[in-house]
This record gives sequence, C-alpha cells and structure tokens, in this order.
Amino acid sequence: MNEMEIVEIEKIRNETPTIKSFFFDWGKDFEPGQFVMFWIPGRDEIPMVPSREGDQDRITVKKRGDSTAFLHRNTEAEDKIGIRGPYGNGYSLDGEKILAVMGGSGGASLISAITRAVEDGKEVHSCIGAETEEELLFREELSDSTRLHIATEDGSAGKECFVTELAADVMEEEDIDLVLTCGPEVMMKKVVDLCLEKGIKVQASLERYMKCGIGICDSCTIDGKQVCKDGPIFKGEELDRMEEFGRFERAKDGRLKEI
Ligand SMILES: Cc1cc2nc3c(=O)[nH]c(=O)nc-3n(C[C@H](O)[C@H](O)[C@H](O)COP(=O)(O)OP(=O)(O)OC[C@H]3O[C@@H](n4cnc5c(N)ncnc54)[C@H](O)[C@@H]3O)c2cc1C
Repeated sequence: MNEMEIVEIEKIRNETPTIKSFFFDWGKDFEPGQFVMFWIPGRDEIPMVPSREGDQDRITVKKRGDSTAFLHRNTEAEDKIGIRGPYGNGYSLDGEKILAVMGGSGGASLISAITRAVEDGKEVHSCIGAETEEELLFREELSDSTRLHIATEDGSAGKECFVTELAADVMEEEDIDLVLTCGPEVMMKKVVDLCLEKGIKVQASLERYMKCGIGICDSCTIDGKQVCKDGPIFKGEELDRMEEFGRFERAKDGRLKEI
C-alpha cells in the first residue's frame, strides 16, 4: 500500500466559478486516469485524479458537497494536505484518432490522457460541455493541443446543445476510432451507448462513493466490480454488461439509489 505523503499547496487557480486547481509538488509517476486519495486535514479523504502542468502536480476540484466546498473555501497556498496513491487503472490509448468527451469536472480525469495522446502523435478531438460558457473547463489548454468542439446548454459558446449531441456529430464527421469519456454518468451512458451502436471503442471513468480506495471497504462496488481496483476506467464491453451503470449508484450507507 502507498504511504500517505504530506505536501504543501503552492498555488490555487480558479478554473471556473465552481472548479479550482490546487498545485503542489508530489513528483510520483502515475498513468493518465489513475486516481489518488486526497486528505483534507480535519475533514475527509476523497478520490481525485492528479494531472501535471509543467513540472507541477495538480488536482482540479469541482465544488459539490461538504469536503469539496471546504477545500474551495478554506484552503490557501502553504496549507498542507495529504495524498496517497496512485490507485486504479489508467486509460488505454489504443486508437489513432481519439475523441475525448467531457462534462462537469470530467476534464480533470482526461487532461493527462489527452496530453499523452498528443505527445504520441495521435489526432485528438475534444468535446467539452457545460451549462454556460463560464463553466467550460480547460478551454484554453484544449484549444492549444486538440481540435476543440464546444457545447453549452444556453448557447453562450459553441453549439447550443448537450455535449452528447456534439460528440455524435464529431463521430459522424471524423473517422474516430477511440472515445474516452468522463463526466456526469447520464452523459457517459449516452456516449457509451452511441459508441456501442457505431462499433467505436470506448472507455469511461466511473465515480462511486469511496472510502479506502484500495479494495477493502467495497463502498464503490458496481455490478460486482470495485471502481477503485477494477477501474476507475472501464471499457465499453464491460459497461454494456453492467445493470447499474447510468441507472443506480450507492449512497454513503451502501444502499442502491437511482441516479
Ligand atoms: C476515482 C474518482 C476520481 C475522482 N476525481 C475527481 C476529480 O479529479 N475532480 C473532482 O472534482 N471530482 C472528482 N471525483 C469526485 C469527487 O471525489 C467527489 O465529488 C467528492 O468526493 C465529493 O465530496 P464532498 O464531500 O464534497 O461531497 P459529499 O458531501 O460527499 O456529496 C455531495 C454530493 O456530491 C455528489 N457526489 C459525491 N461523491 C460523488 C461521487 N463519487 N460521484 C458522484 N457524485 C458524487 C452527490 O450528489 C452527493 O450528494 C472523483 C471521484 C472518483 C470516484
């Protein structure tokens, strides 16, 4: 098991009104899409996907509930946090023309995979979606490195539609041979179904409530698989066999609830 390391927050950047990146020097190797358990002293330990900007490590966090709101509100440069990992699997970049489909904080998981694919000389298209323009994550980073397609629900930027509709258009127009997706599960379910229908390889990064991150507590179970150990990245064939994917998640007490 990986020991927890204490690191100092060096810089914090507002990415959108509800998403912040926290930069620190951790220096461990990880595969794109693997996650860490991020300890917020006095609060909780939560799963997050690390990425790198230059030689700095970062996590990019969307404000959702108690811990992420605390992190947004109370954490400042020079504060100490704990980090253990990396855990789980990463994306397999087994395609030449890749489409990354992201919603919400999904870019946090996909940004390293996109960077790696671009470095490997692959053609990468990215679709980002949000309710409004100001919530689009990594717009500049992605427009520098990929062919960027934007969808907003209010039409304030890009095409006025859900990101799934935009992704369907890109799959139609370009000869995409691999789709990677991360974001709200309803969105990922639509993307996966579309890819299965079109015979395009697809991988999705799943989120489930996690406590240990190392396969002991079983909190993150989905159809008998553990997201922390068997995932978080699952391939289209596996997702197609899952009854719970896109339909049910587990509450903190372990009970199944509709998504
Ligand atoms: C492997 C993995 C990697 C992740 N990486 C990132 C990342 O890089 N950036 C990021 O912003 N978030 C990421 N998440 C999600 C993040 O861990 C949760 O948003 C966070 O734990 C919520 O904690 P909280 O105390 O703020 O919210 P809580 O008070 O625990 O929950 C508040 C509400 O948030 C929602 N929520 C909480 N946890 C989850 C979850 N796991 N999945 C879906 N909805 C949830 C629920 O609607 C819940 O009612 C990741 C999750 C997993 C499993």
